[in-house]
Amino acid sequence: MSKQCSGSVWRRYNCYRCSLAGVLEHDGGWWCSEHHPPTVQARKDAREAEKQAALAAIHSARRLVERDQSLKEMALEWMRREKSAVVKEWEEEL
Ligand SMILES: [Zn+2]
Repeated sequence: MSKQCSGSVWRRYNCYRCSLAGVLEHDGGWWCSEHHPPTVQARKDAREAEKQAALAAIHSARRLVERDQSLKEMALEWMRREKSAVVKEWEEEL
């Protein structure tokens, strides 16, 4: 007799026993490749790692934008200072 997967599936708000054949053993039970607990955990970990990588990318992009903005502000401030220095020189010459 072939073993049945110990996993469960949700269908229309009800929980059913997975109908697939158990092909992988774990903790005394048999599981299909979809419900095999270590495989489920590995998938979850991979998704989490992907999410963390995406978050890290967003954070570093945000840091770049912030740096760009502060450089822009520094440049504007410098230009304002330069301009007022030049204007002062003109005024002194006149
Ligand atoms: Zn299953």
